[in-house]
Amino acid sequence: MSKPRTSSIEMASEEFRTLGHQLIDDIADFIDTINQRPITPNESPSQLQHRLGNSPLPELGKPATELLSKATDLMFNHSLFNGHPKFLGYITSSAAPIGALADLLAASVNPNVGAHILSPIATEIEKQTIKWLCEFIGVSPDYGGILVSGGNMANFTAFLAARTAKAPKSIKEEGIQNAPNQLTVYCSKTTHTWIEKAVILFGLGTKSIRWIPTDASNKMDNTALETAIKTDLENKCIPLMVIGTAGDVSTGVVDNLSGISAICKTYDLWFHIDGAYGVPAAICPKHKHLFDGIKAADSIALDPHKWLYAPLEAGCTLIKNPQHLLDTYSSHPEYYNFSTSENEVAQNFYEYGLQNSRGFRALKVWLSLQQVGRSGYEKLISEDIELAELLFELVHKHPELEAVSQNLSITTFRYVPLNTSINNASLNELNQAILNALQAGGEVFLSNAIVKENYCLRACVVNFRTSEKDMHEIIEIVTRVGRKVHLKRSQIKD
Ligand SMILES: *Cc1c(COP(=O)(O)O)cnc(C)c1O
Repeated sequence: MSKPRTSSIEMASEEFRTLGHQLIDDIADFIDTINQRPITPNESPSQLQHRLGNSPLPELGKPATELLSKATDLMFNHSLFNGHPKFLGYITSSAAPIGALADLLAASVNPNVGAHILSPIATEIEKQTIKWLCEFIGVSPDYGGILVSGGNMANFTAFLAARTAKAPKSIKEEGIQNAPNQLTVYCSKTTHTWIEKAVILFGLGTKSIRWIPTDASNKMDNTALETAIKTDLENKCIPLMVIGTAGDVSTGVVDNLSGISAICKTYDLWFHIDGAYGVPAAICPKHKHLFDGIKAADSIALDPHKWLYAPLEAGCTLIKNPQHLLDTYSSHPEYYNFSTSENEVAQNFYEYGLQNSRGFRALKVWLSLQQVGRSGYEKLISEDIELAELLFELVHKHPELEAVSQNLSITTFRYVPLNTSINNASLNELNQAILNALQAGGEVFLSNAIVKENYCLRACVVNFRTSEKDMHEIIEIVTRVGRKVHLKRSQIKD
């Protein structure tokens, strides 16, 4: 009789229960008190390294209870909290608590959502999640898609599908170096940096990007877009795709999508929408019109870890005709036995994107869509926008602040000291210094945007914990810090 194996990595159910209960209690306390903590501890990398110590890879194991208690202490006391009500930086949302529980459940069962046979219910839940996301943003539920790690991956996944669909068919075998002519892609100057990574990654090179200027409202200038396409066609280039941005990362402007879609139709180009930040706002009746034209998109990138408040990571690619994903990503190696059913075709997600083994990201999105419901999301997103509008109004009324832009849930503004003549370059430097002081201070976390050469403070509300009170307090904090930084800088110069 052989003895049962004792594995040092296994955990007895009693121990798991005790540690799990303790961890959940600690997390509940953390969430309860998050608004009383500094947003960031503002510690330097070397201070943090010092805390971790520099011991080599541990030779022997340690008890899990000790390790988890140390890890919770590190996380709760040395992190930046994007779940704090005054965290309004970049486009990182507060995380829905149900998402944390979902990730624990997903990790515990650990389905590999690359193949149906390895993840039977998880695959079906991901498919349903994708269908609901289509309804959420108002496109046909016949779109297909896949969950990925974030907006960049969602855009990459669509980009390669567009290349497969619109470049000469030989490219898939011959590679881009044998393309008969230069392949080109079109997007406005406000497009997120993913586009540069995409053209490098997929072999087109950065010179393939046609940066289309923006009009006075910061949307892509569609007349300039059409001119650029015509010029390229005359020069024997091969235009592939146009990227419309639905909520640009700096100021939240949504391009004229129906205009872009008409141009794509005329020239038979792929129409991609980068809606990583903004497209969930299509659920609000008041803002839906901004997204007119979305139903014509060949592909859409969105980011549940932004305005759907999923914990990191969750992005999503939606494709009007999902066959394009299969054409791009599907292969059937002999070592996979994934097509066994006689009468039903099972969907294997490894054939729909770049990943092979895949975690169960869909669960947290699927659960929060049900916990909150369509109307709940409409309310949350509308309120985020209203809070950003309130901030804009408060800024506008304040003599030391200058309101610059307000779109979706992004407001940009500047601190302008009273009774001083200050040139724009100094004003830019002053606002940069103020931003640094604010970010280090831990009371409010804003980021920056450059709007028409002006360095602005930028608040982006994708935070269900932010309230009107926070907006009033932010005005007080920014003006207090603004005065202080300005005073210090003028003393240095004197
Ligand atoms: C955030 C964002 C991205 C990148 O998404 P990640 O989730 O950070 O990878 C791309 N495009 C836009 C418009 C975004 O707002």
